[in-house]
Amino acid sequence: MAKRRKIYEGKAKILYEGPEPGTLIQYFKDDATAFNAEKHGVLQGKGVLNNRISEFIFARLGEIGVPTHFIKRLNMREQLVHALEIVPIEVVVRNIAAGSISKRLGIEEGTPLPRPIVEFYYKDDALGDPMVAEEHIITFGWAFEQEIDDMTHMALRVNDFMNGLFAAIGIRLVDFKLEFGRQYHDDHTHLLLADEISPDSCRLWDMKTGEKLDKDRFRRDLGGEIEAYQEVARRLGVLPSADIRDIAAAQDK
Ligand code: ADP
Ligand code: UDP
Repeated sequence: MAKRRKIYEGKAKILYEGPEPGTLIQYFKDDATAFNAEKHGVLQGKGVLNNRISEFIFARLGEIGVPTHFIKRLNMREQLVHALEIVPIEVVVRNIAAGSISKRLGIEEGTPLPRPIVEFYYKDDALGDPMVAEEHIITFGWAFEQEIDDMTHMALRVNDFMNGLFAAIGIRLVDFKLEFGRQYHDDHTHLLLADEISPDSCRLWDMKTGEKLDKDRFRRDLGGEIEAYQEVARRLGVLPSADIRDIAAAQDK
């Protein structure tokens, strides 16, 4: 393959210049990080699974009218996306208390929330992605008020859709993180859902057993990460039944 220009290498993905102006190729790596990259590991086959799971969710969201960066999947590890100016805010939606909200506010993990909560975090590794309020976002110019409203509405719509999608396959959607980006069209801007939606960016619990099917297996040293991600892919119907490590190993040769 011709050498492509690498635009950015992050913790879990690489962005390459796409074939057309305004496009990028998003490559899913097997690297896993947690606690602001203090913990690092390689989970063979994770990139292949996240590419498929994220493709499936973005495609379904596109079908119900949520604007997304996703254009098409190119191969086992790559997808073609619209190049965006990323809003430096991580939007987290919570249905059940877990992770940082439980720690910060002393709410027992697993407590259902009476209504979904939308939170904002400033994307800055050096600061450890601190939680911020709308006031900070507007004051420091990270996004306009209208953009915050749009991100909130889209996030709640994504939440409604994903709650149903996962409930239908016996999985509880505890919480998840979204990113958005701007696309410029003549004199106006358009906000699109960007990045990925996968077990790396969601908390997913099996409804019957409570088993964690997400990155908390890695964060909390529970093991069985790939089996859990593969179970999510299998229930969504997006992967053949062969062991993903064999598929990934064959493909990476
Ligand atoms: P990190 O940057 O946190 O290490 P990743 O390894 O997942 O995370 O890198 C992917 C990067 O690509 C993220 O910084 C994300 O904001 C950015 N990104 C995702 N989608 C797009 C897009 N459509 N256009 C431009 N940048 C994007
Ligand atoms: N999340 C993420 N990237 C981040 C921070 C959080 O994808 O940089 C996801 C995380 O996987 C979980 C949700 O956002 O599904 C809420 O995370 P939380 O604030 O509880 O932080 P954590 O306990 O994961 O550090």
